[in-house]
Amino acid sequence: MTALAPASLEAPLTATSTEYPIGLYVHVPFCDAICTYCNFTRVLFDAARARRYVAAVVAEIQCATPSLSVDTIYFGGGTPSVLEPGDVSQILDACRSLFTVAHDAEITMEANPESATEVRLAGYRAAGVTRLSLGVQSFRDDELAPLGRLHSSVGARHAVASARAVGFEDVSIDLMMWLPGQTVIDWLESVDALIELEPDHASLYLLEVYPNAPLRDEMARRNAAQAPDDVAAEMYLSALARLDEAGLQQYEISNVARPGHRSRHNLKYWTDGRWVGFGPGAHSTVGADRWRNTSEIAAYLEQLEAGDDPSCDRQHRSSTEQVSEALFMGLRLVEGVDVDAVGGRYGVDVRARYGSALQPFIDGGQLIDEGNRLRLSRGGMLLSNEVMGVFV
Ligand code: SF4
Repeated sequence: MTALAPASLEAPLTATSTEYPIGLYVHVPFCDAICTYCNFTRVLFDAARARRYVAAVVAEIQCATPSLSVDTIYFGGGTPSVLEPGDVSQILDACRSLFTVAHDAEITMEANPESATEVRLAGYRAAGVTRLSLGVQSFRDDELAPLGRLHSSVGARHAVASARAVGFEDVSIDLMMWLPGQTVIDWLESVDALIELEPDHASLYLLEVYPNAPLRDEMARRNAAQAPDDVAAEMYLSALARLDEAGLQQYEISNVARPGHRSRHNLKYWTDGRWVGFGPGAHSTVGADRWRNTSEIAAYLEQLEAGDDPSCDRQHRSSTEQVSEALFMGLRLVEGVDVDAVGGRYGVDVRARYGSALQPFIDGGQLIDEGNRLRLSRGGMLLSNEVMGVFV
């Protein structure tokens, strides 16, 4: 791990206090095609339904608690880049009319390469989007096809060039490893292609094949399996080493960035921050309160059109629940979590409660105890689920 960016360029590491601005998340549930591995809240794009969706999201935003300060807005999906720039502009206008949105707010949009045309991207920039997160997944066409992705590696390169051409100074690329039949060499080919494009940020995900995913049939048809676990570990560690060398420093289990380009929005999830979500299936957390919207898209539209609240599963979390989540989410960060600060915030003696369960991981080198901070070693990140299981 190389030096972290200057603190002034990064989000505060503890963002629970009401003095810290909140983040807004807007879930866009439409995609131009459904990928064979997808387990998200999404449907095929339909122009008429998209019109109803934009009106519903704007109505939902207008009913939120006004006047909160906001410093990040994140359009996630689905594929937000299926929306017209005018749609994005309307949603952002609704956010600005209800919340106090910082002049330097980070406004991210996830996009897929096939819909990230230069004209469209210029429209998003004009609407106020500052950061583009491109779902590339692989730079090998033979890996993209079985995943059901609509773009090619050439299309992904064009999308990055178009983003730069219209002035995006914050571009992130998502890649997916442990694809069926993928070798370490295949994977590193995509990592090298990503490095060549000089993004500001990258996210590396392990493919998870769900029990009923159509990709399972595709894998059977192609006789392609995922590599053994130790090969997946080699993929992860070798990619991080290459990215480090290229100036993309790991700051979270799955995320690397150039100095000053960490995802300020996602840091809210890892630093016990506050966020409010809009759109079907969107989650919100403000202090002890947590809720989510109905994830069924038709129901979401009908509820908003009838003037009803689409939220459900409202919970008031106990301090034990809050402390446990702050610890396991904080451990995702390379700099780890300040256990004394988190314990102090919720009135819990973290070491007394979890110390004996954590000790075997400290003894085994997966967890590093730095006094007030606990952090995972890079090897420990491979076993993060087991370590974090202590807090659940
Ligand atoms: S683009 Fe993303 S959300 Fe849409 S189907 Fe593919 S994986 Fe799912």
